[in-house]
Amino acid sequence: MTVNGQRVALITGGTSGIGLAIAENLASQKLKVFICARNGEAVSSTVTGLRERGFDAAGIAADIRRLEDVRKLVGGAVEQYGHIDVLVNNAGRSGGGVTAEISDDVWYDVIDTNLNSVFLMTREVLNTGKLVQNGWGRIVNIASTGGKQGVIFGAPYSAAKHGVVGFTKALGLELAKTGVTVNAVCPGYVETPLAERVRQGYAAYYNVTEDNILERFQAKIPLGRYSAPEEVAGMVGYLVSDTAASVTAQAINVCGGLGNY
Ligand code: NAD
Repeated sequence: MTVNGQRVALITGGTSGIGLAIAENLASQKLKVFICARNGEAVSSTVTGLRERGFDAAGIAADIRRLEDVRKLVGGAVEQYGHIDVLVNNAGRSGGGVTAEISDDVWYDVIDTNLNSVFLMTREVLNTGKLVQNGWGRIVNIASTGGKQGVIFGAPYSAAKHGVVGFTKALGLELAKTGVTVNAVCPGYVETPLAERVRQGYAAYYNVTEDNILERFQAKIPLGRYSAPEEVAGMVGYLVSDTAASVTAQAINVCGGLGNY
């Protein structure tokens, strides 16, 4: 049960791509949404855009790699809406390269952004958001098909996303009797600003054009195309519903058939 009957979702990285589509999906389902990103102006303009469409939205600037920001973010959502029912750990970054040449900075930053943040956010929300005490909650972690299979030149990314899948399965079992479900959604190739940066990276490694990389990637996807952010958001929208109460400790692909386990 929620305090006032309307559920509250905290979404990390809600200003762009998949996170923005998730915020729009959940707000359309009448959840109150609280978002973050590192850039305060991006957060303000996104929140304004959501409010102009009649949605109940708020947010603050926060870097999910930093414990003090995580505390500020979760505290801000509780201060704004009184409680948290849904946590979507979406914020993430790409990154990698030829493994022997990866710097410490890139390795640790990809792991901090994609994996350690998921632990910090989840622990804070479990302690402050009172999901378990309220007997109802949803945690959805945006992993990747790269969390189930290797991504060439993406060792830190793939390692982090495998970690997110493992974390999700373990916590899903731990909370199974509490009314709080924990699942991962594993997108394949999704057309977002991050996907564009990924294509730029591979174009540089292979010394070819970005269009050439796009063609190669599309050829690998059984559906023959990238997924849309809204298609990933649709799965999140289902997982946070009451109907999805028996779906927990799963890692579900939204990937045009790219991964099939
Ligand atoms: P995006 O770059 O379009 O958006 C990322 C969002 O996260 C932005 O709002 C950004 O501001 C925020 N963010 C990044 N680092 C942050 C930090 N340290 N603190 C706070 N906010 C931060 O990326 P996207 O493609 O929408 O990716 C969203 C998630 O989906 C990521 O976890 C990514 O790994 C995953 N994913 C994306 C794809 C894809 O093809 N686009 C595929 C598989 C998984």
